[in-house]
Amino acid sequence: MATNKKPGKWRARTLGVRGGTMRTPFQETAEALFLTSGYAYESSAQAEGRFTGEDDGYQYTRFSNPTITMFEERMAALEDAPVARATASGMAAVSAALLAGLSAGDHVVAAKAMFGSCRHVIADILPRFGVAHTLVDGADLDAWQGAMRTGTKMLFLETPANPTLDLVDIAAVAKIADGAGARLIVDNAFASPALQQPMKHGAHIVVHSTTKYIDGQGRCLGGVILCHEDFLNQRLQPFLRNTGPVMSPFNAWVHLKSLETLDLRMREHCANALAVARFLRRHKKIARVLYPFLDDHPQHALAKRQMSGGGGGVVSFEVAGGKDAAYRLMDALSLIDISNNLGDAKSLITHPETTTHSRLGAEARAELGITSGMLRLSVGLEDADDICEDLEQALGAV
Ligand SMILES: *Cc1c(COP(=O)(O)O)cnc(C)c1O
Repeated sequence: MATNKKPGKWRARTLGVRGGTMRTPFQETAEALFLTSGYAYESSAQAEGRFTGEDDGYQYTRFSNPTITMFEERMAALEDAPVARATASGMAAVSAALLAGLSAGDHVVAAKAMFGSCRHVIADILPRFGVAHTLVDGADLDAWQGAMRTGTKMLFLETPANPTLDLVDIAAVAKIADGAGARLIVDNAFASPALQQPMKHGAHIVVHSTTKYIDGQGRCLGGVILCHEDFLNQRLQPFLRNTGPVMSPFNAWVHLKSLETLDLRMREHCANALAVARFLRRHKKIARVLYPFLDDHPQHALAKRQMSGGGGGVVSFEVAGGKDAAYRLMDALSLIDISNNLGDAKSLITHPETTTHSRLGAEARAELGITSGMLRLSVGLEDADDICEDLEQALGAV
């Protein structure tokens, strides 16, 4: 196979279209879909060579596959990361990154505001294997520093966080991790590499739910882990190869085509989200609007420093009148769909208290600032005026 990857020379938008492309002798212009579980060898000696590693061809799709390789190379180029490995879902990426790097007796420090399942892995699953944790307020750098102890091997954060859109200063937390010889994992699902490249700020590992903005059109589940060669070779590769949470070649192919439009889509998501955030901020029935690129966001300066080009596609807001008012608004919508997914071309709205964050419990929700009137809106790629008009008419029912 011929490759035309020239990372380092091309700009991000070009890398999204062409990074990692390999062509068969047919010279197809679109990436080939290798929907195969295995590969045949020319001889028994070649089979032996593949297993000793002397021959670097493909063996079995649980280990690697050319379509998945193209997706991994393109993601690594976009994140400016040394290497990438694709997984079956975002949670497969998060749990593999943690489990590959941790052993019984180790300790993890994580920002409280994170995706519900990430919290479950850190706070409920890891303790069963002897891994302790401390949850901190992600914005409080002294709390991060104070939580570090002997045995702290990994730090975990998500920025912007779901659903409050709180930010964490990646560079500052990476410095704390470096001081202890620990690794910082950043969940970059909300921003995507088009808006934020955590490795440039010192993160050691980046994870994504590619189900969200990478796919961008609500079709395929997937995840990806970006890291350095040493972590890949010593920890991650043996873990993934033998536990098997691999991405389907079909999903990798869909994601490859999605990456061609990632930059364009993210610009429009950001422009639409900002327009919707400004519309909501002017509305009397809205008590509070959370969006990192609104100038009254408490971490606006950090948002501008850490993210480029926009604050992402998610806007959270609070309807005056609590759960009743929030439900009335949602049920009166005609364009925006009620759905707990996000990062779709279609605008989707969810009530975190009763869905995505219901299992957290009232106390943890209060700590995170998730109130009864809070709604999380994943602003899609429809005309911003149609989205605002739908919200306007639905607010009439409140
Ligand atoms: C959706 C999401 C995940 C989980 O990803 P799946 O693809 O659903 O497994 C993890 N982190 C964040 C921030 C997410 O939004």
